[in-house]
Amino acid sequence: MTTRATAKQTDRHRTPSTSRTSSTSRTPPTVRRHYAVVGAGIAGVACARTLVQAGHKVTLFEREAAPGGRMASIDTAFGRFDSGAQYFTVRDPRFALALEATPNLCRPWSANLVRVLDAHGRVAEAALPGRESHWVAQPGMDALVAHWAAPLAGDLITNTQVTQIEPDALDPKRWQLRTAGEDDSQHVYSGFDAVLLAVPPSRTRVLLGDGKLSASISQKIEPVRIAPCWTLMIAFPQANQANMSHLGPQWNAARSTHHRVAWLARESSKPGRERIERWTLQASATWSQEHLRDDAPRVEAKLLRAFAEITGIHAVPSHAQTRCWTEAQTQVPVGKSHLWDAKARIGVAGDWCTGHRVEDAFLSGLSLALAVI
Ligand SMILES: Cc1cc2nc3c(=O)[nH]c(=O)nc-3n(C[C@H](O)[C@H](O)[C@H](O)COP(=O)(O)OP(=O)(O)OC[C@H]3O[C@@H](n4cnc5c(N)ncnc54)[C@H](O)[C@@H]3O)c2cc1C
Repeated sequence: MTTRATAKQTDRHRTPSTSRTSSTSRTPPTVRRHYAVVGAGIAGVACARTLVQAGHKVTLFEREAAPGGRMASIDTAFGRFDSGAQYFTVRDPRFALALEATPNLCRPWSANLVRVLDAHGRVAEAALPGRESHWVAQPGMDALVAHWAAPLAGDLITNTQVTQIEPDALDPKRWQLRTAGEDDSQHVYSGFDAVLLAVPPSRTRVLLGDGKLSASISQKIEPVRIAPCWTLMIAFPQANQANMSHLGPQWNAARSTHHRVAWLARESSKPGRERIERWTLQASATWSQEHLRDDAPRVEAKLLRAFAEITGIHAVPSHAQTRCWTEAQTQVPVGKSHLWDAKARIGVAGDWCTGHRVEDAFLSGLSLALAVI
């Protein structure tokens, strides 16, 4: 095990950012603090960016190889799939303002073609065009978080899972984090004035030591519930080879009341995507929970059958891939934008604080940073 002090005193954090997510002053703070932010989904990145813009130092830890979290995209030989969030909506002016700073990255998607289908693929209700816009980042949903995380690159530590938070061995008024890397290497990062967690609730509970680090936060997150989601991604290059614009139905996205399926979308209809006919299907929360322990081939076969029933597409896909999100969509949120225990110097953010959407996650990360500042 090695010990690393990460408190490099550099000025790069004061570089003016292009974003205008908050009204935080660019005047350097009287005390420049060092924050650990755990989790580089949109909540963690929004939080880290805001702290850096306020002149503080941040070290951002991410378990995966890249930032994005549930705004995830997968590259295949047949094009990209958004395996997590399919689109986002913009209701809050603070989110709208942050997006204005990235004008060419996100595009509206004509998901006003969204249909609500019954179990047999019949239209039960058609969403009206002209309702709120559905936005996608291009070339994949992960691009937005990657873009916002880019200025943090020097202080983003990927492939690194935070396993424990404990008092700093040299300065008990601060925190240190134990981490595990891909290759099972273990490190200790020390000298943090506060630790801000932007990870799913099950991880948050473990990292809070089941109440030992902040009893008040642990108590508030106890009732939170998040449903899993099995996702199927399939490609039909044969449609393009046969010079057909696409297979099956005329709509591009649908909610479904089929007991196995909650959502289907034609990936190739999203802006900035490859034209090869590709679909993403999300299983319902109930079905995903019931089949959480199933193996991927079994789930794939069942979801493919449901896909054929709903869309009428019986062709065999050239590519099929599943992904199981064990914590996908909030069912019982905390009910507050974020949690901050000033005495313990520990905070929590994530979509599950108030809801289940990309925008909820962004606002949660932003409000935690502003509370801390
Ligand atoms: C299948 C699916 C479909 C969805 N569809 C939509 C949609 O259409 N529209 C919409 O608005 N929202 C949708 N969502 C929800 C949306 O993706 C989330 O609201 C949002 O991405 C959550 O962001 P977050 O930063 O709170 O959490 P996450 O994105 O989950 O980020 C948490 C990060 O923490 C990292 N992490 C976890 N533990 C550790 C650790 N110990 N150490 C270091 N890093 C760690 C994870 O790797 C991850 O990157 C969907 C989600 C799923 C799964």
